[in-house]
Amino acid sequence: MCSGHSRNAYSMHLHDSAPSSGNEDQLLYSQQGGIPIPIDTSISNTDNNKDDSPDDDDIHALSHSIHFSPAEDKSMKEHDLKVQTFDALQHGIGQTAGMDNSNPFIGGSPKLSRRGSVIGMPHQMAHSFLHQIPGSGGTGGVDSTSEIGGIPTSSKDSTIPENTAAISEIENPSDDLIEFYTNVKTCLDLRHKYLQLSIQKDEMQNPKNQDDWIIYPPPPKPTYKSKNKFNQLPPEGPIEEEEKFDFEKCVIPEIDNRNYYFALNDEDVYQVYDKNNDQPIIKVPSLHDFYSDLNKITKISSDGPTKSFAFNRLQYLDAKWNMYYLLNEFEESKQSKRNPHRDFYNVRKVDTHIHHSACMNQKHLLRYIKYKLKTTADEEVIFRDGKVLTLTEVFESLKLTAYDLSIDTLDMHAHTDSFHRFDKFNLKYNPIGESRLREIFLKTDNFIQGKYLAELTGQVFDDLESSKYQMVELRISIYGRSLDEWDKLAAWIVDNKLFSHNVRWLIQIPRLYDLYKKNRNVKSYLDIMKNVFEPLFEVSMNPKSHPKLHVFLQRVIGFDSVDDESKPEKPLHARKYPPAGDWDSVVNPPYSYYLYYLYANITTLNNLRLKHKFNTFVLRPHCGEAGDPEHLISAFLTSYGISHGILLRKLPYIQYLYYLDQIGIAMSPLSNNALFLTYDKNPFYNFFKKGLNVSLSTDDPLQFSYTKEPLIEEYSVAAQIYKLSSVDMCELAKNSCLQSGWEAGIKKHWLGKEYMKGGVAGNNIEKNNVPDIRVNYRQETLWSELNLMNSYIAYKNNSKNDL
Ligand SMILES: [Zn+2]
Repeated sequence: MCSGHSRNAYSMHLHDSAPSSGNEDQLLYSQQGGIPIPIDTSISNTDNNKDDSPDDDDIHALSHSIHFSPAEDKSMKEHDLKVQTFDALQHGIGQTAGMDNSNPFIGGSPKLSRRGSVIGMPHQMAHSFLHQIPGSGGTGGVDSTSEIGGIPTSSKDSTIPENTAAISEIENPSDDLIEFYTNVKTCLDLRHKYLQLSIQKDEMQNPKNQDDWIIYPPPPKPTYKSKNKFNQLPPEGPIEEEEKFDFEKCVIPEIDNRNYYFALNDEDVYQVYDKNNDQPIIKVPSLHDFYSDLNKITKISSDGPTKSFAFNRLQYLDAKWNMYYLLNEFEESKQSKRNPHRDFYNVRKVDTHIHHSACMNQKHLLRYIKYKLKTTADEEVIFRDGKVLTLTEVFESLKLTAYDLSIDTLDMHAHTDSFHRFDKFNLKYNPIGESRLREIFLKTDNFIQGKYLAELTGQVFDDLESSKYQMVELRISIYGRSLDEWDKLAAWIVDNKLFSHNVRWLIQIPRLYDLYKKNRNVKSYLDIMKNVFEPLFEVSMNPKSHPKLHVFLQRVIGFDSVDDESKPEKPLHARKYPPAGDWDSVVNPPYSYYLYYLYANITTLNNLRLKHKFNTFVLRPHCGEAGDPEHLISAFLTSYGISHGILLRKLPYIQYLYYLDQIGIAMSPLSNNALFLTYDKNPFYNFFKKGLNVSLSTDDPLQFSYTKEPLIEEYSVAAQIYKLSSVDMCELAKNSCLQSGWEAGIKKHWLGKEYMKGGVAGNNIEKNNVPDIRVNYRQETLWSELNLMNSYIAYKNNSKNDL
């Protein structure tokens, strides 16, 4: 997330603040649409660069007219404000950070007239904004931040250069602030420790992201050939057929002289030991460690002053965005217009959260059911009540014919009657409210070995491939009721050749222990963990033991934990954390307990897989859709990214942490609208403005969407409601690619060869259509927040040394 070139620009920006001191007294504030805008009257009156401002005349003419609609009036006022601010900036240019490669930082240089683009905050304004933050602990503390120099660091970058000059400049900071930033650092360090152990921190550590990783079958070569049926180009020369998946061609590595063995440790987590010395290959935090770390963060996050200070920082980020956008909207759209070929429709976008059994739209499902009734009605499809039924017999028992079927009879839409009723929502998975139709059409493991679902899935894949720019990360269930689930699932995928360059898989594990216990599928919680993880350790020890699973796992990104978060949870007794084998009552374990066991087992599994150069997994649970705030904190500790996260709006401190670490949040406002939070209250846009790493996703197209392209529908509704610009949409699409688990080789093709550098150095507008000016703003804003933290920590350490 950091880069050589812009790093220099940034540090120069910070060092050059001296000439600005004293100027903030002259800044007035005008309140425009709730956004404080500093106007430097002393400057605008003595402006002598008016010729540079092409719109001055227009504005003058317009300001005399009174016959405009309120909307026109508003837009003119905004425009006017921009011009004023530009004027104000001409004199503040010495303190302005910029995109230009020429040196714009020499304060007061006569060569510098007004520049075309202003990025970030001019220094005086940053200064003044900080004055505006109530409760910021007094100007003495925060005020000096604008003078903190130093090389910015990114959250993903572990090399944080020290800058002693910066430290000396914090004078008499308040103890509250030092404590706040110490707490922030403690929380971030805890997260990094957990992610590091589980190989989720550094993406490049994952063998699939290294250059020698082979994707079979190879992805299609870049081409401009149009597949659009309305605009078919005649083929030039022979067309290379894409290689089709063939299991015989998959290489299953032979791992001999095995050095490791695995066994359960005393907390019932799978551990891998070295045969030579019987030592574990990685030390996993114990259940007790996990809960004490969790409690530490919970305690910090519920402290009053901490909450209000975090809230203020978030307000500041929001205001800073408004300011940035006001100043740079034109420049952004100019840069993206100048960029040839790319637009929102042909940038890559990933549906970062979608469930496989609901990945087709209703019309698609309906058409398929009718087709099956017409063509193979006599096929035996289900075993019910002691006999095998054909599709015709099933429909006769329902007293329905193909002709009767419509979207209305199917009744799977869930946006009218399932609000705050997750139980009702779950029933919507049954076509016509009939569980037997779900069993026939939407299950992988049924009487027909999931044949129909495989065909439907294949059709969804075909649609995706022909749209080319849309990808999905499908979530498919492993329940943990029996040991052979993995092999059955892998066989279903491999035998039906469900491989596509537009698709990767996540494994979702439902939190249904209480149900299985009631039905006597399992004795204790440990049985679920055994069923989920034992086959994975076996195949990672020796791929020949489950060859199909080995091949399937190459396309698996990670794990998800799913179920209704709003169910009440019984908290664990203090200092009593029973290991999985002892959890044998009918009570369902809390969310955090589920997450710990997933995390702990993934940690050892990943370390084993890394030793054998197999791809490693991440944890990306459903989290913060409803329920206890503890969910979001446990995911903060253990997970690479989350889905939903709408409850972050109520937890300012945790939200600030999610911002600082740029944790990926796959949000689905349309799904929330049907289940937990109406669209107008959704914090998605607010998060986006502040710079949280959010993407848009569909969750369940079968229940929520109306069109053939659910992901575009999601973007399109958001664009209409929030008035997203095309740059916003492309930035969201870029976020989704970055959050996704595709191999680095493929992401390079989508986003540019240097994408992993992050920031401006990693940005390629030709690929993703996001202008550098936007990327630079995001980067600088993040860096200055992190810099603030680092400076206070450094001050604290320094003053400790002095004592
Ligand atoms: Zn979901």
